Amino acid sequence: MHAWDELYIGGTWVPSTGPGRIEVENPATERTVGRVPDGTPADMERAVDAARDAFDTGPWPRMTPDDRAAALEDMADALTARAGELAVTITMETGLPITIVELAHARPAIAALRHYARLVRTTAFEEDRPGARSPFRLRRLPSGVVAAIVPWNIPVLGACAKIGPALAAGCAVVLKPSPETPLSAFLLAEAAHEARLPPGVLNLVPGGREAGAALVAHPGVDKVTFTGSTAVGKRIAAVCAERMKRYSLELGGNAATIVLDDAPAERVAAGAVAMGLINNNGEACIVQGRILVPRAREKELAGAIAAAAGAIPVGDPADPRTLLGPMITRTHRDRVLGYVASGIAEGAELVHGGRVPAGFDRGWYVEPTVFTGVHNGMRIAREEIFGPVLTVIPYDGEEEAVAIANDTEYGLSGSVWAADPERAAAVGTRIRAGSIFVNGTLRLDADAPFGGFKESGIGREGGPEALAEYLEPQVMFLPAGEGRAPGPALSGDLT
Ligand code: NAD
Repeated sequence: MHAWDELYIGGTWVPSTGPGRIEVENPATERTVGRVPDGTPADMERAVDAARDAFDTGPWPRMTPDDRAAALEDMADALTARAGELAVTITMETGLPITIVELAHARPAIAALRHYARLVRTTAFEEDRPGARSPFRLRRLPSGVVAAIVPWNIPVLGACAKIGPALAAGCAVVLKPSPETPLSAFLLAEAAHEARLPPGVLNLVPGGREAGAALVAHPGVDKVTFTGSTAVGKRIAAVCAERMKRYSLELGGNAATIVLDDAPAERVAAGAVAMGLINNNGEACIVQGRILVPRAREKELAGAIAAAAGAIPVGDPADPRTLLGPMITRTHRDRVLGYVASGIAEGAELVHGGRVPAGFDRGWYVEPTVFTGVHNGMRIAREEIFGPVLTVIPYDGEEEAVAIANDTEYGLSGSVWAADPERAAAVGTRIRAGSIFVNGTLRLDADAPFGGFKESGIGREGGPEALAEYLEPQVMFLPAGEGRAPGPALSGDLT
C-alpha cells in the first residue's frame, strides 16, 4: 500500500484541512493500492498562498537562470534515483504496461526537466534592441503563480512537461494531479524536496473537479496550464477570461492516418497497432485512431491490421512482455465498449476484438479492436474513444482523404504513409494539426513544440515555445545617451 497522509505545501508536509481520502485502485487487479489526502478548496488556497509568497518575496524568480537550472538538475537527479519506483507506481495506478511506462513516461519526464535546465542556461532573458526609432531593453519575466492540472493518462510526463518550463522560467507552481493517479506525483514532490527547491516553489495538492475548479478560480493564480478533455479546457478558458489569466491548454484529439496508394501493407499494419492500439493502451491524445485507406485496398489493409492486432500481448501491465493493459476504470472500460456497440449499431464491420478478452475476469480490459467499413459520420469516427479501437475508413482520391482527415473539430496530430516519405510529408502539410508523423515516426521530443490546432488546445509544450508560455515580455525604455536627464519620456510623437 502506497500511502501519503499529507500534502506538500510551502516546502513542508502538512495535513489536509479536510478528512477526505482518495483511494487509488490498480485497474489491473481492482485492488486498492494507495491512499492520499483528497485536497479541499481550503488546501488549494493554502497552496496558492505559499506559491504566491515564493513568487512575490522568495528567491526563486530572482535567482540567476544558472542557479535555477542547477536546482532543476538536482530534481532530475533525485527523480532518476527513484526511476524504478516511479515506473512501478505509474504502472500500478494507470494500468499502463511497464515497458511503455519506462520508455514513454518515466524517462522522458526526467529528460524534460533536464531539457529545460539546459534551455534556460542559454535563453536570453534580457536583450537590448535597436528599436525602430530608439533603443530599448526587452526583458522576459516569469508569468507568476502557475496552476498545473494534469490528467490520469500521463500523470508524471504531463506534470514534468509543465513543471520543467514553468520552474525554469522562474514561476511557482501548484500541481493538481488527477484523482485516479495521484501517487506518482508524490514522488515528484519528494524529489523537489530533496533537491531543496525553495519553499513554495512547487506545491502538490491532489483532488478532483472541485479542487481543480477552486485552483483555477483563485485570484492568486496568474496562469493555468491544463492537460485534459476539451470540455473541461473550455470551462477553464472561460474562468480564466474573467481575470484575463494566461492559460495554455493541451486537449483532446482524433487523429487520422492517411495511407496513400503505394504504402506497404505490413508496415502500415505494424504502425497502426503501435500508434493506435498499444499507444498508451489507446488512452492517449495522440492515438492515430482513424485509418484512411484507398477504397481499392480496404480489405487488404483492414485484414493486415486485424492480423497485427491479434498478435498484441494483452495482460498484466507489470509484466514486461505486456503491450496492452486495462482501461483506467470500470466506467471508462464501459464507455469504450459502448463505442464498440455504437459502431456495430451504425453498420461498421467489426474485424477484430470488441469484447472483454476471455479469461480476464479481473481488471478493466478491452480486446484490441478493429472496425472497417466505417464512414466519418459515425460516432466511432467523430468522437475521441480513448481506448484500443481503430476505425478503417475508405476514401476515393487524395483530395477526399485530406478532407476526411480534417473533418473533425480536433487538430492535435496526424499521420501519412507512402512509399516515398517526401510525398507523404507533402500530404501531411495539408492536415490541420500540430504534429504530423510520416511513415510511422510517432515521436515526442522535449525540444519539439507539441500542441493543438482547433479544439485540441492553445499553446505548446516542448522546446523554447513552451518556455515562452511562462514568460511575459517587458519593454524598458531607457534614457537615450549619457547625461540625458530621465525626465518625462513622452514627447507626444509616438509614430
Ligand atoms: P478531464 O478533463 O476530465 O480531467 C483532467 C484534469 O482536470 C483532472 O486532473 C481533473 O481532476 C481536472 N478537472 C476536471 N474538471 C475540472 C474543472 N472544472 N476545473 C479544473 N480542473 C478540473 O480529462 P481526463 O479524462 O483526465 O483525461 C483525458 C483527456 O485528456 C482526453 O480528452 C485526452 O485527449 C486529453 N489529453 C490531452 C493531451 C494533450 O497533450 N493534448 C494529453 C493527454 C490527455
